[in-house]
Amino acid sequence: MQDLNILIVGAGVAGLTCANLLKKQGATPKIVEKEKAETFNTSGYMLGLLPLGGRVLTELDLSEQYFERSIEMANYEIHTQNGELNKAYSMDFINKDYGSYRGISRTELINLLIGNLDKKTVSFGVTVSQIVTTENGSSVTFSNGQTDQFDLVIIADGIHSPTRSLLWSKDEYEYYDTNWGGWVGWLDNQYLNAYKEYWGASSFMGLYPVKDKVGIFLGGPNDLVQEQGLKDFATKIKKEILPEFAILHQSLDALAATVNPFYWEFHDCRAKEWQKNNVILLGDAACGFLPTAGVGASMAMDSASALVDELSRTDKEHMEYGLKLYIKRQKKRVEKAQEDSRNLGKLMFVKSNLFAKIRDYAIRFYSIKQLAKNISKTIEGN
Ligand SMILES: Cc1cc2nc3c(=O)[nH]c(=O)nc-3n(C[C@H](O)[C@H](O)[C@H](O)COP(=O)(O)OP(=O)(O)OC[C@H]3O[C@@H](n4cnc5c(N)ncnc54)[C@H](O)[C@@H]3O)c2cc1C
Repeated sequence: MQDLNILIVGAGVAGLTCANLLKKQGATPKIVEKEKAETFNTSGYMLGLLPLGGRVLTELDLSEQYFERSIEMANYEIHTQNGELNKAYSMDFINKDYGSYRGISRTELINLLIGNLDKKTVSFGVTVSQIVTTENGSSVTFSNGQTDQFDLVIIADGIHSPTRSLLWSKDEYEYYDTNWGGWVGWLDNQYLNAYKEYWGASSFMGLYPVKDKVGIFLGGPNDLVQEQGLKDFATKIKKEILPEFAILHQSLDALAATVNPFYWEFHDCRAKEWQKNNVILLGDAACGFLPTAGVGASMAMDSASALVDELSRTDKEHMEYGLKLYIKRQKKRVEKAQEDSRNLGKLMFVKSNLFAKIRDYAIRFYSIKQLAKNISKTIEGN
């Protein structure tokens, strides 16, 4: 590993996890990150990390800090649009049998991962403008005009991956769009230890706690919510919520008062192939996720771990073979979790009142393992 010249594109969850694992193996990868140092890590949204992702932090000896910066989730609750509880699932089976299921802000997770790397590892404000790849390595030209040779290029620049499009043509990856989306914000100084979702007809709201605050999401069909705008849409939803659910009213007020809240369009992406010679896609760049199952970051970390594990048993000459073994091990597993997220989306994102009523009734008979069948199998190692 020490002899390998490795480039990672993107200092997000996948890229930084991968860099940390490579460092542990004695490699010194170079990371380029589009954001400048001043703006890096400012998109502070919330993440639920399954043990699938969290256990990678154990491998990196970061679990103590991870636990300090996050909180354990005890329950997942599905409510009706007016705030009443429809179905509650205990997360005990995950927390007890597989490891802690925790809420952490993306900012904290990124700080934790980047703080464990040498300062010089990441070059900020730099992107890749050209990759020429051969069987023996890749020649990479950066946005600052510099060109370098690499034995391995790991593309981890997220769901819209501009670097992927340098080598992958448009028909080699496809987006899946729910045509729903919404705004993300925070309710400060709050403690909750349950994910709470409010499934309506043409509306969806979620409360996702992290340490000391709660992430809020409010959305619906893109055309409807964009037309109404955040303030009017939040006011409309508030009217439907019973007065006793104070946290919902507070959350909607906090979200409506947020300056330039992040608008998240719910689509995902899947690349048909993950590899071109010695260039590999990782994380959302390979297979991105809808938020519905809260599994994208966990899968990105799990994939980084599988990739570095396979690389640790290969050398420069057999790099492509190592990458093929990684894909064989990971691709189906990731795509199955993506299928779960899509299927959950079909249940959550409904427009008709009648269908929403039938769904709300039917959901009472579903177990969590039925709702996320493939993810449960993945956690269990099947
Ligand atoms: C609001 C929200 C809530 C979410 N909640 C959850 C959750 O609860 N649980 C969960 O598991 N997942 C969740 N996800 C999904 C999760 O964040 C992603 O699946 C995960 O971050 C993927 O990691 P990644 O490293 O592939 O991409 P990212 O973390 O998006 O990182 C990509 C990085 O590449 C950089 N970059 C972009 N373009 C370039 C370029 N051209 N050159 C260099 N660098 C570039 C970006 O600036 C960024 O730093 C959520 C996502 C959002 C938006």
